[in-house]
Amino acid sequence: TDFHSLGLSGDLLAAVSENGYETPTPIQQKAIPLILEGKDLMGLAQTGTGKTAAFGLPLIDQLVADGTHPRARGTRALVLAPTRELVNQIAKNLISFLKKTPLRVTSVVGGVSINGQIKRLSKGTDILVATPGRLLDLVDRGAVDLGTASYLVLDEADQMLDLGFIHALRRIAGLVADERQTLLFSATMPKQINELAQSYLKDPERVEV
Ligand code: AMP
Repeated sequence: TDFHSLGLSGDLLAAVSENGYETPTPIQQKAIPLILEGKDLMGLAQTGTGKTAAFGLPLIDQLVADGTHPRARGTRALVLAPTRELVNQIAKNLISFLKKTPLRVTSVVGGVSINGQIKRLSKGTDILVATPGRLLDLVDRGAVDLGTASYLVLDEADQMLDLGFIHALRRIAGLVADERQTLLFSATMPKQINELAQSYLKDPERVEV
């Protein structure tokens, strides 16, 4: 299997090869076609398996195809991850695929001044990558409107639960548009993750690597 057979658009394929990716990893081979079909997805995969591109490439492809623009303080897609390091790593990886698109990525994490983040969010963004706690801070200050997000990605969901983010996740999921595509990735699938998936994913496909 190569990237050309997964259904991604030409501009993205160019970005993929400029990034030096030659062959899709197993999670990319399984997840990308399903995500492009619009399916909700539960992916059992560890860090290092290429899962960022597995959700990022089809997400970017769909955002470009949708052709709409973000509203003030709005975001078109929301990616949640447990730690600052992971948020920054995801944002960096996504940005590396955006060169031929007009899309913008914004990342927000705790431990840094919130004012700059409020300012950056004021014009809206296409993809917001965030830790749950700081995101809710921004929501409570009216700095971001999640109701326009029609894609929700929960990355390393098991770690988010371990860090005590369950209430934050439930609140955030309630704020994102009901008509959305939801993707959940986790390295383990304990009962709590299955419950989370049952509450927030619609008829999900399951992929495992
Ligand atoms: P991730 O699991 O998403 O954190 O990715 C781990 C590392 O693998 C990152 O440095 C990616 O840039 C890289 N990577 C992801 N997919 C591929 C691929 N298909 N070919 C080569 N490198 C990749």
